[in-house]
Amino acid sequence: MRWKLSFLVLFYLGSHCLQNCVGHTELPKLLLISFDGFRWDYLDKAKSFGRHTPNFDLLISNGVLATVKNTFITKTFPNHYTIATGLYEENHGVIANNMYDPVFKEVFTNQPEQSYEVKWWNNGTDAWLGEPIWFANERAGLSSPLKRRSGVYFWPGSEAPIGGHHITHVKTYKSSVPLAERMDQVVNWFQDEEAPINFGVLYYEEPDSAGHRIGPKNESIYDVIVDIDDHLGNMIKKLQSVGLFDNINIIVTSDHGMVEIVGIKYLSDYVNTSWFEYYGSSPVLNLLPKPGRLHDVYETLKKAAGSNLHVYLKEDIPAEYHYSYNRRIQPIVVSAPEGYDICINKSSCYTEKGNHGYNNSLTSMHPIFIGHGPAFKHGYKSASFDNVDIYPLMCALLNIEAPHNDGNMDHVKHLLVKLDNSSVTLLTYVIAIAFVATIAGVMMVAALRVQHYQRHRHHLLKTPPHMNSIFVHEQTDIEGQSHLLTSEDEEGH
Ligand SMILES: [Zn+2]
Ligand SMILES: [Zn+2]
Repeated sequence: MRWKLSFLVLFYLGSHCLQNCVGHTELPKLLLISFDGFRWDYLDKAKSFGRHTPNFDLLISNGVLATVKNTFITKTFPNHYTIATGLYEENHGVIANNMYDPVFKEVFTNQPEQSYEVKWWNNGTDAWLGEPIWFANERAGLSSPLKRRSGVYFWPGSEAPIGGHHITHVKTYKSSVPLAERMDQVVNWFQDEEAPINFGVLYYEEPDSAGHRIGPKNESIYDVIVDIDDHLGNMIKKLQSVGLFDNINIIVTSDHGMVEIVGIKYLSDYVNTSWFEYYGSSPVLNLLPKPGRLHDVYETLKKAAGSNLHVYLKEDIPAEYHYSYNRRIQPIVVSAPEGYDICINKSSCYTEKGNHGYNNSLTSMHPIFIGHGPAFKHGYKSASFDNVDIYPLMCALLNIEAPHNDGNMDHVKHLLVKLDNSSVTLLTYVIAIAFVATIAGVMMVAALRVQHYQRHRHHLLKTPPHMNSIFVHEQTDIEGQSHLLTSEDEEGH
């Protein structure tokens, strides 16, 4: 009867291994794509203008569609870094595309060399609690036999080696690289023979550039959307041709929306502009009053501008903006109402047809979210969630423990059909069951042979009469235990 016990133990270990050993023979794969300035309603509007987007439609009909509420200020670098870290802007420290750090006494102006300077990407301190998702993925692989690798084809912050660590594949930003080349490379990274990735990231400047240039109400914006859709189709075909499309989770999202510009507010109309320095870009500026001028700038500007501008002292910025607690946020923040640009004066003013950066409660500022792949529900339209929630979602899709972040997995778990076993394929189950069955068979044959040998030996031995009772007692005990286990097993405990 001992072999029955062994078999049960082995079966338990085998089942346990199904979840904890075999499931990790194939790392979960995730591809994150951002099309800059892709407003949540661009696809619907494209249809109303007779433009077709069959490849976006394919992902949506077999996946998840949602609108995302992004973070204030609704600018490119801040929101991309929020997606990458799951932190509000005041917590990750990229509070504008152009910002002043009073400790460094330096201005971040989005220069190529600043992409490598860690100090701009770790909130200016090594004690920073955040971690970009591409590092979180690779770090989770350090304690596992399977190496996790990330590949990022452009994303704000991706070139900085936070904690001294460079990710496996990363590209130096160059806006002229065609979208097709970016897509091809990321798919190739997943297939790389020497250093295959399990997490790919891709950024593209459109439709943001067109949105600024011609405005989101111009019908031609939808030609740009159709062009992106064509590229998306080619990427899907490539993923299919290498057998990846069905087992990779894909997130297509963006940093913000876009709104038509209807007017300009000139600060020089309301306040003496020599009283302050300013950082950032329209429609949100951070003002640093010159010594002794804080009260003058704030009171004068607030009174004179009235409803023409939102003027906040740093400490009075509404809590829901999560835009106060950072040294790079200056003492006064000025934001224009939806559709208006801010200029210092008429002689130094550059505006375009469309812009973004406004209050993140405005739907015109909200970007799109599409999720597709084995972990996502099919044909599911979700209510809006915050872009900080994308981070814990990606950690769940990558099957890693989420580092500290401001998101909430409870807000996005309804998008998924399952959470933690997306990496366990049918093939791995079959292999595991075959493995367990083979070992069990070998054990069974061995146990039968041992049993047969013991019986044979028992008959051969001259057992002394006083030992007979002990031998019988031992046999009974073992049979009793075995019977109990069998009974429990039958009852399903
Ligand atoms: Zn952008
Ligand atoms: Zn833009």
